[in-house]
Amino acid sequence: MKASSVDQIIIEFLQQNRQHYASHQIYEQIKIRLPAVNRSTVYRSLERLTNQGKISVSDMGTGVFLYEYVGEGRHHHLVCQECHHIIDISDEDVAPLFERIERKNSYEILTNHLILYGICPGCQTKPGS
Ligand SMILES: [Zn+2]
Ligand SMILES: [Zn+2]
Repeated sequence: MKASSVDQIIIEFLQQNRQHYASHQIYEQIKIRLPAVNRSTVYRSLERLTNQGKISVSDMGTGVFLYEYVGEGRHHHLVCQECHHIIDISDEDVAPLFERIERKNSYEILTNHLILYGICPGCQTKPGS
């Protein structure tokens, strides 16, 4: 089996399911379509696609790396440290900040999936916090 076809199947799966998946969840999904695939092939493929910027990998505060398809536009998240609830932040809000940092430091930012940690409104009002 060619590695490139595994890449393709992973991309298709993540494109159709715009969520965050742990590597073992992706492996289980790919195994349904390619029963002969082995774990390390899938993991190597995830690493390659991440390096190519086609998928993002993030630690959302649970210690597990989560993969997601990166579409045409970047998107970002706010993650609650208490309940691990995740919401999306549009790139519109983040782009001006990135541009300013790029200008100041003469950098080209490649981060396409920014994770900001905080406490959600629900957890802020919980007694004892
Ligand atoms: Zn995301
Ligand atoms: Zn919360």
